[in-house]
Amino acid sequence: MKAIVYTGPNTVTLQQVSKPDLKEDYTLIKTSHVGICGTDLNIFAGTHPRAKAPLIMGHEFSGTIASDHPTIGIGEKVTVNPLLSCGTCHPCRTGNPHVCEDLKLVGIDSDGGMAEYVAVPNHCIVALPDEVSLKSGALVEPISVAVHAIRQGGYQAGDRAVVFGAGTIGLCVALTLRHYGAAQVTVIETNDDRLKKAEELGFHTLNPVKDDIQSEVRNSTSKLGADIVFDCAGHPSVLNLVTDIVKVKGTIVIVAAYKKPAEFQLLQGMFKELTVRFVRVYTPTDVDLAVQILMKNVDFEQLITHVLSPEEAKKGFDLLVTPSDAIKVLYQFEHEGVEYNESII
Ligand SMILES: [Zn+2]
Ligand SMILES: [Zn+2]
Repeated sequence: MKAIVYTGPNTVTLQQVSKPDLKEDYTLIKTSHVGICGTDLNIFAGTHPRAKAPLIMGHEFSGTIASDHPTIGIGEKVTVNPLLSCGTCHPCRTGNPHVCEDLKLVGIDSDGGMAEYVAVPNHCIVALPDEVSLKSGALVEPISVAVHAIRQGGYQAGDRAVVFGAGTIGLCVALTLRHYGAAQVTVIETNDDRLKKAEELGFHTLNPVKDDIQSEVRNSTSKLGADIVFDCAGHPSVLNLVTDIVKVKGTIVIVAAYKKPAEFQLLQGMFKELTVRFVRVYTPTDVDLAVQILMKNVDFEQLITHVLSPEEAKKGFDLLVTPSDAIKVLYQFEHEGVEYNESII
């Protein structure tokens, strides 16, 4: 089968490899669409602490069932919850497998969806309803991240929110906030292409290079500050701003992964009695909710800026590591399902 293989820092190649072996309690999926995620860019750069070459990346994908599964029929549309929890540590045993002490992921710690076929544990498989196309199905994972961040952050309907970062996760958070009834969502970003996308999606946008963020946010929130701020950018300059623009007693949700320690205005946090929430991946409930959102909300498809063939393996990564208008880049593998034609763009 064809597979996009990470063979070492800054190198991915399309290769012919053998189909994955099917272990007990695993099911084979015929891949349709697979997304490139920020984590895949870390792997590609050679800086991911766990991922080792050779590896087939891909933890955001959709496809159809290609071997016997206990409850889902052959040919049915699915996506996966790629989390591989140990099942025995304290967080796992107390209902929090998403923060397992030894958390692993399909596509990072084992071969993932950037291939014609991928084998995953049965329990990872999530059925996709008819309303969700295979193309959108590849967005369930990043939307699950957004759902988790919003629910863990204690967001309440009608809250005025600010989202830093207009990449896939930032825009998924913004769209999910709107879906859940946010009164106002402001998206802050420095990349003009991404800001344009946020504007097209109907969000109030600000660029810290040109705009006075503090006064703009105050003016748009009855001089109070935002109820809740999501950091989906992960840049130290963001942490310096978040405590300024959030209201007294407000909440800051750190969604982005900081690779290095960063400065935080702790005294301001104290004076305003702020809450800071850290979030990691998602629970099975968040994944379920993400699928339901996708059934009713077509806006998310606009985040998909590129659908490439596996032959364009390198181009996909190049688009994301160099400045471009790319937001979510998908590879589409050959797929003889009914969905194939409707999902081509
Ligand atoms: Zn991801
Ligand atoms: Zn565990």
